[in-house]
Amino acid sequence: MSVIFAAGSAAPIALYAIKLVTAAHHVADILTIGGGYLNFKRHRIERLKRSMTKTDKPKEALRIFVLADTHNRLPEKVKEMAKNADDIWHLGDVCAEAILDELRALGPRVTLVRGNCDSNFEWPLVVDLVRDGLKFRLQHVPPAQPPDDVDVLLHGHTHVPRNERRGNILFLNPGCVTRPNRGSPPSVAWLEITNGKADWTLVPLR
Ligand SMILES: [Zn+2]
Repeated sequence: MSVIFAAGSAAPIALYAIKLVTAAHHVADILTIGGGYLNFKRHRIERLKRSMTKTDKPKEALRIFVLADTHNRLPEKVKEMAKNADDIWHLGDVCAEAILDELRALGPRVTLVRGNCDSNFEWPLVVDLVRDGLKFRLQHVPPAQPPDDVDVLLHGHTHVPRNERRGNILFLNPGCVTRPNRGSPPSVAWLEITNGKADWTLVPLR
């Protein structure tokens, strides 16, 4: 009688023990997952802290490659330079659209305005952009009067480089890539923007 009783109760006890072990494993699993989650959270907070301290440091300059009046020609040297830009701005008179395809194939984003020699009417005549708090206007033909709603006006058309402040507006022209005027060499330019300041460097091509 007692044997039967023992045998009868041993089975549920063993089952109970197995259940306990399984439950313990689950708890261990949950702890591991929980630990992983906490670790993940810690990493996220550390990453956030790092990105917050990053903004305190001086920012890296935004480098914009500016060119105008390519008039059917894009020298290899110009392509080599443009490849390393954050942005490419073409101020019109691209002429052959193949030039634009070549520019776009370099990688950086290309922004362009339509010049008087461009026949693609989908291209805008004026593009306004804000970079690092500065307001830029891109247009091919320089306006007769300085606009009052921008900080920097970039233009082409004259085939003569320009870096001139008129009132509150800075007028910039990178010159012409292929047919320079008035004795200036062919040229392009770098516009570097850091902490709300624009720096202009004309690059003669010969
Ligand atoms: Zn023009």
